[in-house]
Amino acid sequence: MKYDTVIIGGGLTGLTCGISLASRGQKVMVASAGQSSLHFNSGSFDLLGYDESGTIVDNPLEAIKALGQEHPYSKLGVQKIEVLAKQAEGLLANAGITVKGQIGKNHFRLTPIGMVKPTWLTLDNMITLEGPDKFPAQEVIIANICGFLDFPVEFLKNSLETRGITVTVKSFTTPELERARENPSEMRATNIAKVLDEEENVEKVAEQINAISHEQELILLPAVLGIANLKAIQLLKQKVQAPITFVATMPPSVPGVLIQTRLIQYFQSLGGTFLRQNKVVKGEFEGDQLRCVYTENLQDEPLEADHFVLATGSFFSGDLNSNYGKVFETLFNLDITTGDDRQQWTKENLFEPQPYMRYGVQTDSDFKGRKGGKTITNLYAAGLILSGHDAVKSADGEGVSLLTGLQVAENILEKE
Ligand SMILES: Cc1cc2nc3c(=O)[nH]c(=O)nc-3n(C[C@H](O)[C@H](O)[C@H](O)COP(=O)(O)OP(=O)(O)OC[C@H]3O[C@@H](n4cnc5c(N)ncnc54)[C@H](O)[C@@H]3O)c2cc1C
Repeated sequence: MKYDTVIIGGGLTGLTCGISLASRGQKVMVASAGQSSLHFNSGSFDLLGYDESGTIVDNPLEAIKALGQEHPYSKLGVQKIEVLAKQAEGLLANAGITVKGQIGKNHFRLTPIGMVKPTWLTLDNMITLEGPDKFPAQEVIIANICGFLDFPVEFLKNSLETRGITVTVKSFTTPELERARENPSEMRATNIAKVLDEEENVEKVAEQINAISHEQELILLPAVLGIANLKAIQLLKQKVQAPITFVATMPPSVPGVLIQTRLIQYFQSLGGTFLRQNKVVKGEFEGDQLRCVYTENLQDEPLEADHFVLATGSFFSGDLNSNYGKVFETLFNLDITTGDDRQQWTKENLFEPQPYMRYGVQTDSDFKGRKGGKTITNLYAAGLILSGHDAVKSADGEGVSLLTGLQVAENILEKE
């Protein structure tokens, strides 16, 4: 099968790049091995939350200027970042992902354990703070579902109380949720969300929440609604007497699954082909070009394309790996940036920035990958697989994914 572009990896990066190419008429295939890190997503998209010294960033556009040359943003430049960020916001809106936030000023999101973190865009229904100490209410009720374990309520409560907020924790249930509870594995956020996508179940939840709350308090509910049906959230908001907002849970993330589902649907609506559960296992190179790739389930059917994009994530998704002596890119053995000495890979203190988090594929200024020191002229890399940034310590992961995914699409189209 011949495509204009084959993208390897169906996370935020691969889908962003695929949508951009398909919307401009390319025949695109995204081949993806499995779940992506969107299943761990907080409901927010970070652009740059912390600078190199670990200080909170107020204006990402200003702070990006001070990043080192090796950071993927430095290949884009600030002016281009602003343009690409606007494009990314438009792409999310077109996919039906409604967010709040702006590029010139970070706002703050609340983690499941009550930490406050800077971010760029946040799903509309999730709780946000304008500043680290600007909590939107002085009194809140945390309304949890009986038996739901992936919401560390006591951590959240303690953390909010240290910020001077009065917190009451109340639990509720409904017959449908109790039925789900008979099987402990059903009490995961994504399973509960499937129960609560039914509108009649949402009405029962609203009754229960009204019974445990007062009109003047802000209700914090774990983000277990709206996995496929955003109307469930609107209905709940209408039926509950008090203002209600959602807090991220431990994974699996309902907001993350919603984002992934909407991006896949949008990509497919543009004519893109999304190959699920299909790991790319090898590629055939000819000179300085990648000619085709093969997947685990289509071993005899080469996927040929003019262009390829490596959007395979990092260690977490298995495309970066290590043995005793070296770190390597598993699929094509591309050149990567890494530490020569194993002792340099990690720091003993777990909470220090870990050097290995910055390891990844080396690229030229167009994001083309290299193998054995030579540029592969039709193989681009984007997103978390790129070297030079630490998504956890800098809170820049989704920004790098969105912006480099879009830039690679642009680079490919320029070659047409
Ligand atoms: C646990 C965790 C927490 C994070 N927390 C933050 C945070 O707080 N802030 C932040 O900014 N960023 C964070 N990030 C990073 C952020 O989620 C990512 O930067 C971004 O979403 C990565 O998208 P991606 O598409 O590049 O990679 P991924 O989401 O990893 O997707 C890669 C995809 O490629 C697929 N794949 C891999 N190999 C193959 C193959 N051979 N063939 C086919 N498919 C393949 C995988 O199955 C996966 O679907 C976190 C990441 C993780 C893993």
